[in-house]
Amino acid sequence: MAYVVEDGRILTRSLEVHVTDHCNLRCRECCTLSPFLPPRFVDPDGLRDDLALAARALRPEFLKLSGGEPLLHPRIVDCIGIAKASGLARTVSVTTNGLLLHEMPEAFWEGLDHLTLSLYPSARLAEVRLAEAEEKAVRHGVELRIKRQDEFERMTLEAPREDEGMTHQIYEECWMKRRCHMLRGGVFYVCTRPPSFDTYFGHGERFAATDGVRLHAGPGLMRELLWYLGRGEPLAACRHCWGGQGTKFAHEQAPPGTGRRSRPWPPQAPMSSACATGESC
Ligand code: SF4
Ligand code: SF4
Repeated sequence: MAYVVEDGRILTRSLEVHVTDHCNLRCRECCTLSPFLPPRFVDPDGLRDDLALAARALRPEFLKLSGGEPLLHPRIVDCIGIAKASGLARTVSVTTNGLLLHEMPEAFWEGLDHLTLSLYPSARLAEVRLAEAEEKAVRHGVELRIKRQDEFERMTLEAPREDEGMTHQIYEECWMKRRCHMLRGGVFYVCTRPPSFDTYFGHGERFAATDGVRLHAGPGLMRELLWYLGRGEPLAACRHCWGGQGTKFAHEQAPPGTGRRSRPWPPQAPMSSACATGESC
């Protein structure tokens, strides 16, 4: 499906900024690999610059601040203010597991348009905390979306897939490449996986260098982005990814200290085009 350009900007569904990489949970097969990534906090000044560049060519419906767990960022309120002031998207949203929500000041709620609260069976929010969040959302006019994430799916291949045909098929049918666009360090990606893989696999910026588009203020940015969004070739990162077609399993926390390769997987079920339809974080 082609992207529409309106008033000089490409209309997209959403753009994510991961203000942290790390998390206070350890969900197995976390799509951002947060349980295995070192702490990282986005620099608010860098965020402002990145959003200004993005606003030259992109018009996402939602600008999502997520992670990792975004509420671990000590300047999350500043990040929300910067996101709102950028004018990039009509709706500024935070995606959180909610465990730190009760510690957020009123200014957190005042700056937000939308909050996605992901609830996991292994780390349920106390009912009183949930009621508190619902009350604050109503009081501040924040649209609250509660997602109960009882099921996860296999996301990552440790060794790159050798079957190029299968990688093409996975990329072609991947729903995330339209719904999980990401901005990081001045680079736009169709999904969140390339920069996470670079940290996870410890190879610097291999995927970041090949799998995204560096934003700039010169001419040609729109053309570069439209080409990238419509490309038929998989990303290099797709060889490590199940792209929404992985085996599903009941959500669980990985025990502390679990290494990334410590649990064997059952064989991958045959692929079908009836892949998952929702985000996993
Ligand atoms: S799925 Fe979400 S809550 Fe779970 S570890 Fe990943 S970022 Fe944290
Ligand atoms: S790496 Fe490829 S298959 Fe995985 S989410 Fe991104 S575009 Fe989809």
